[in-house]
Amino acid sequence: MNTVWAARAIKGLAFVLAALVFSPAADAAGEVNLYSYRQPFLMKPLLKAFNKQTGIKVNVVYAKKGLLERIKAEGRNSPADLVLSADIGRLNDLVAAGLVQPVKSEVLDANIPPQYRHKDGLWFGLTTRARVVYAHKDRVKAGELASYEDIAKPHFKSRLCTRSGKHPYNVTLLASIIAAKGEKAAEDWARGVKANLARKPQGNDRAQVKAIYQGECDVSLGNTYYMGKMATNDKKPEQKKWAAAVRVVFPNQNGRGAHVNASGAALTKSSKNRNNAVKLLEFLSGPFAQKIYAEQNFEYPVRDGVAFHPLVESWGRFKADTVNLLEVTKHRTTATKIMDRVRFDH
Ligand code: FE
Repeated sequence: MNTVWAARAIKGLAFVLAALVFSPAADAAGEVNLYSYRQPFLMKPLLKAFNKQTGIKVNVVYAKKGLLERIKAEGRNSPADLVLSADIGRLNDLVAAGLVQPVKSEVLDANIPPQYRHKDGLWFGLTTRARVVYAHKDRVKAGELASYEDIAKPHFKSRLCTRSGKHPYNVTLLASIIAAKGEKAAEDWARGVKANLARKPQGNDRAQVKAIYQGECDVSLGNTYYMGKMATNDKKPEQKKWAAAVRVVFPNQNGRGAHVNASGAALTKSSKNRNNAVKLLEFLSGPFAQKIYAEQNFEYPVRDGVAFHPLVESWGRFKADTVNLLEVTKHRTTATKIMDRVRFDH
């Protein structure tokens, strides 16, 4: 990748972390422009391998938020071909804003199970992660909790910690409960969880595990890969202690299965390098990329037959909710309203 970086202030868009000057196609293989919510440490090895295999140059803009607003502002002149996101909700927001176009590819259809891709090819899941319950190893006894429903019961009064109810991870989890049991049951659940909180929602998923370690609460919600990131964190070794204090509980194993979200990608409507963008999508869903992709971030490969990271394997195999993610994302707006109604963050 011969990316040329330049600091650039974009008026009205305070979110920009780094801006890239896109150069015109340099060689026959051409290029592809990526707007990525996924982080450089994860994408760089993959994009390097893609470039080596195809000769296609990949230019990337990394950002933590605001890429939808940016693409909207850039309009038809947007250089973005693909948007990569760690959450299907964000890809769905792009669909709702009319900023993406369908991709038809037999390779993608063969590599990605139907529940993890949009039925019209408007987005494709590339890795999956379960949103599980983290439970203190001693203070929560085996059998004390087995489902998302359990953590909303009075038994867990003042024993729960979580990040904001408005965070996409929690919104999508709540949307999956709406999909499974309807709006009323989902609202009751959100109310029950809120009533059990030991403190106001705050921090990220890892901060909840820290709170469990420190004894503030016994149980939290978190994505599986954070367990891997904490347990192997040499830069912040204190996180290893947090991780060691909890165990992963895959909820609803005797029912619909654990809620699984996917990271994924979508092709922008204004894409100028459509063929190369599809090639990159196909590469990312292929066996070689899937192994690196999932292992780098302790996620699950979206396609079958790819080995898990040994640490991920050590948490055990689990039953995933097989509901189509498209069905889940339909309920995100309602889920957000429920979080407001129950004043989850207040
Ligand atoms: Fe995350």
